[in-house]
Amino acid sequence: MLIDLHTHSTCSDGTDTPGELMRAAQRAAVDVIALTDHDTTAGWEEAASAVSATGVALVRGTEISTEAGGVGVHLLSYLHDPADPALTAIFERSRSSRSLRAQHMVERINQDVDLTWADVTDHAEDGATIGRPHIADALVTKGYARDRAAAFATILHPAGPYYVRYWAPPTVEAVAAVRAAGGVPVMAHARASTRGRVVSLDVIRGLAEAGLAGLEIDHPDHDEPSRQILRELASELGIFGTGSSDYHGTGKPNRLAERTSTVEVLQEIERQGRMPFLRP
Ligand code: AMP
Ligand code: ZN
Ligand code: FE
Ligand code: FE
Repeated sequence: MLIDLHTHSTCSDGTDTPGELMRAAQRAAVDVIALTDHDTTAGWEEAASAVSATGVALVRGTEISTEAGGVGVHLLSYLHDPADPALTAIFERSRSSRSLRAQHMVERINQDVDLTWADVTDHAEDGATIGRPHIADALVTKGYARDRAAAFATILHPAGPYYVRYWAPPTVEAVAAVRAAGGVPVMAHARASTRGRVVSLDVIRGLAEAGLAGLEIDHPDHDEPSRQILRELASELGIFGTGSSDYHGTGKPNRLAERTSTVEVLQEIERQGRMPFLRP
């Protein structure tokens, strides 16, 4: 069984539409996909409608932007109620702050190189959650970067002069909101230090107290020592560990199901979640 619990579509910063993602999963012989676009559930319907044709089972999820002590934390939620008012309000506030932040970054960048907001929106579907990857794509099109990775390493770097932060809820509050919405909260790439600062193990212990269900352990941005630390922490806390690709289509080298989760973990997510896991 190939189970990939973290992927993105054009509803955020991936390059496959939700339907294309499901067909790519079918071609890659993936059995179960979780669609986890940033701060949105907009892709759920289209992905769900591709379950029977592709034979790929679907876990509907979201990767929620949060913040703990000034450190950005990505929280995966699975099987939450997409109509939950509190969670929906968080997603809307994050998405609108992300859009304003991206416009602000473009204004800063435009002082040095020719880049307009329209260049960026050309690379995003209507209603998509806007992120730096869309700015990266515009920089690539204009010839200022070779690919997304190069743009992130230079113009879009958090330590650089163009970086702007955006609003995100405290991680503990997001964990509680996910649980209240019937979702299963799992901390994404907790030790991905190449992206910036990471939270301490004590912060993660506090999140477990607040209801965290699991940790994403096997992720392309984690080296073996990081995975070992997280395995030990998950076992100390009695929470599960997942593996996933964080696939973004052609936006990242990550291949579908290059990291995977076990059937036991999938069953536990299904047991804890409110919304059904969709089987072909
Ligand atoms: P943002 O949330 O707007 O700050 O942008 C972060 C997003 O950019 C995450 O979804 C990452 O997957 C993506 N990202 C981070 N670093 C890179 C990179 N080097 N190449 C491509 N995408 C990246
Ligand atoms: Zn992303
Ligand atoms: Fe992430
Ligand atoms: Fe992600």
